[in-house]
Amino acid sequence: MVGTEKGILMPPCQNWPPLVYHPCYSALELPERHRYPIGKYRALYQALLAAGVPVETLITDSPPATREMLALVHQTDYIDSLCQGTLDAKSMRRIGFPWSEFLISRSLQSVGGTVHTAQLAMQHGLALHLSGGYHHAFAGEGSGFCLFNDLAVAAMQMQQQGVEKILIFDCDVHQGDGTALIFQHNPGIITASLHGEKNFPARKQQSDWDLGLATACADDTYLEAVQQSLDYLLNLHQPDLVLYDAGVDIHQNDDLGLLHISTAGVLARDSYVINSCRDRHIPLAAVIGGGYQRDLTALTAIHLQLFKAAFNSRQLPHQIP
Ligand SMILES: [Zn+2]
Repeated sequence: MVGTEKGILMPPCQNWPPLVYHPCYSALELPERHRYPIGKYRALYQALLAAGVPVETLITDSPPATREMLALVHQTDYIDSLCQGTLDAKSMRRIGFPWSEFLISRSLQSVGGTVHTAQLAMQHGLALHLSGGYHHAFAGEGSGFCLFNDLAVAAMQMQQQGVEKILIFDCDVHQGDGTALIFQHNPGIITASLHGEKNFPARKQQSDWDLGLATACADDTYLEAVQQSLDYLLNLHQPDLVLYDAGVDIHQNDDLGLLHISTAGVLARDSYVINSCRDRHIPLAAVIGGGYQRDLTALTAIHLQLFKAAFNSRQLPHQIP
């Protein structure tokens, strides 16, 4: 039995990590057969509620990113032309979404969500964003479904708020090329990317730590790479905050990934990252990152592994398979 009177028993949601979400994430209308699985955010939200996550843990009122916030990372002429819809057609094609006002407001909300997730992680030790991981966006151009780089904006915002050392640990199957280039000369923000060597982008940038994995890489090799990289980076840099891109396009069934990681492998990876930070008392903000399958139920089941890892790390009850 759980009481509600203050000072008697802990309320049931006390230990749940904050989960950041907004209904606009999946509300963008895309042309039919567009390869981006825009419906996955809502599907994930609904699956978490169905798995027994208390609705109060889902935070839907994060402030959207402001122009000032974006300008910590992005060139103002890029911000303005993208927001006003005057960016040239070639640059829009490189992003991969047709321009609309809603595309912009959704993107600002999503960047704001990652910033909020980082702030909540500093307060609660762990926070997760049901979006984010737009790591291909550079200071002056977007790329690969990424308009603004939420991880970079969140890192800069947190650095401005006094967080001295931040590690961006990017396990999406695609290299975090935008993030790497943005922080090339920022010693307080360490970029690390574990990615498929033959995957997009063809031209890789130099992160502080890069590990290019061979095509068809399977669980054992992959998990060893994740564990050794993370241990090394946490020991060497002793970050005050970790931003984790938990992309699931490493999965064997992914349409865009070239690796052969099982669902159990995804859970093992996410559990290792979350538990390593927990054991060292380092705040961790996670974003769901990439994941591309036409079957949204199958894709959602893989993205859910991050949340399962988070709940398991705090011994919280859930029904995530
Ligand atoms: Zn990706």
